[in-house]
Amino acid sequence: MAGSPTGVIPVNVSGTTRVVGLLGWPVEHSMSPAMHNAAFRETMLDYTYVPFAVKPDDLQQAVAAIRALNLAGANVTIPHKVAVMQYLDDIDEGARRIGAVNTIVNVQGRLIGYNTDGMGFIRSLTEQAVVITDAKVVLLGAGGAARAVVDALLSAKAEFVTIAARSGVKASDLASHYVKSSVSGMDWCSEEFNQKLADCNIIINATPLGMAPHSEEMPPVIWSSLAPNAVVCDLIYNPLTTRFLQQAKERGHKIVTGEGMLAGQGALAFQIWTNVPAPYEVMAKNLLQQIRDMFE
Ligand code: NAP
Repeated sequence: MAGSPTGVIPVNVSGTTRVVGLLGWPVEHSMSPAMHNAAFRETMLDYTYVPFAVKPDDLQQAVAAIRALNLAGANVTIPHKVAVMQYLDDIDEGARRIGAVNTIVNVQGRLIGYNTDGMGFIRSLTEQAVVITDAKVVLLGAGGAARAVVDALLSAKAEFVTIAARSGVKASDLASHYVKSSVSGMDWCSEEFNQKLADCNIIINATPLGMAPHSEEMPPVIWSSLAPNAVVCDLIYNPLTTRFLQQAKERGHKIVTGEGMLAGQGALAFQIWTNVPAPYEVMAKNLLQQIRDMFE
């Protein structure tokens, strides 16, 4: 529909349509419904994606409803990604390692949980021709997103991941889940951190520093310490180009913006539900348009 905002193009629903849900609280501002419905339209699959605002106390009933209503599956978002695990029939090994589920598929009444966030981030890098094999990576932040990303980086054969955060204890705690020869954790104010910057191929902001409305913030990276060829990534997509990425760009670094991870995790979830390869470009383009409509 020419001239329609990206988020409100209607989808055809009939008696045969399979439904995928989004369980979150709140869900009003989620960009996933429009992204997935654009992908279903593109592939001409008889599916539709519907957001459900599920209060934390209602999560168990909402998961039971996936079976009762015979939904094809669901995405799970804040604040349910960890709590939902106890209500599922099986959990994929990767999601178990990460300790969170963002995708559920309903296989004849058996609910299986996956985590596509980390591999979604890897997809955003490969789409930009960033090489992960043997890369030395600095990951800023030690929360839920960092947990998914470090796991995926190691699966994608990164050589070493340095997790750096304002709390060296939290960074070291996350690193302690992996072998010492592959991952270390440290305080980002330490001298050791600056040495890691000099030696890294990829640096990733996995903190909320720089997210709107606090877009003037950024993580404490001393640009002169960073290897000149390092690729600079941000998981934040609002704004699309954070202050961190803007400064990196001005210094000649290649940058990777956060909407690619959102498209990548969605593309993997799409394939899990439908067994059909996802139209990644359509999903990424839809997100870019939604972000521009919303924030610019
Ligand atoms: P989280 O679990 O709350 O973790 C946030 C991390 O950032 C923690 O290490 C936290 O440290 C640190 N942090 C928070 N506020 C800080 C501050 N003012 N100064 C320094 N460090 C601070 O959050 P998350 O789920 O990992 O998400 C992190 C970011 O990734 C968010 O911006 C989120 O929007 C983005 N994200 C993007 C995608 C995508 O698809 N593109 C997916 C997931 C997340 P403490 O533990 O010390 O508080």
